Amino acid sequence: MSEHMLQEAVEKLKSSGVRITPQRHAVLEFLLNAEIHPTADDIYKALEGKFPNMSVATVYNNLRVFREIGLVRELTYGDSSSRFDCNTSKHYHIICESCGKIVDFHYPSLDEVESLAEQITGFDVSHHRMEVYGVCQECKKDKKQIV
Ligand SMILES: [Zn+2]
Ligand SMILES: [Zn+2]
Repeated sequence: MSEHMLQEAVEKLKSSGVRITPQRHAVLEFLLNAEIHPTADDIYKALEGKFPNMSVATVYNNLRVFREIGLVRELTYGDSSSRFDCNTSKHYHIICESCGKIVDFHYPSLDEVESLAEQITGFDVSHHRMEVYGVCQECKKDKKQIV
């Protein structure tokens, strides 16, 4: 993550009329640095030492503000807690089945799927989601050590 991205995000908040509190700034900075697509709980745990008065609810509130102005995307997975992604450009995710880590990868957007689905079903398609699953490099290494 570059200073530049943080600066840009802060500018976007300011221009949307959002007040930048130290906590809000810290949540934003953590999100931009985290490559794992953290949950609100991950963020809370990482920052509670620095902000003893902060609650998980505060983290959620901040994330909601960020989401509303388009700084983060919320990724929902059934009933497990949402993950937050500050990469709002089009990309796909690969998910480790062993540790749950989510990694970005780029692949040409599968727009054909959307128009095809529209034609077949008559739906108005808004977006699509594709996830690839497997075992990440670290987990592969760990497995070998156990054997
Ligand atoms: Zn893993
Ligand atoms: Zn992502």
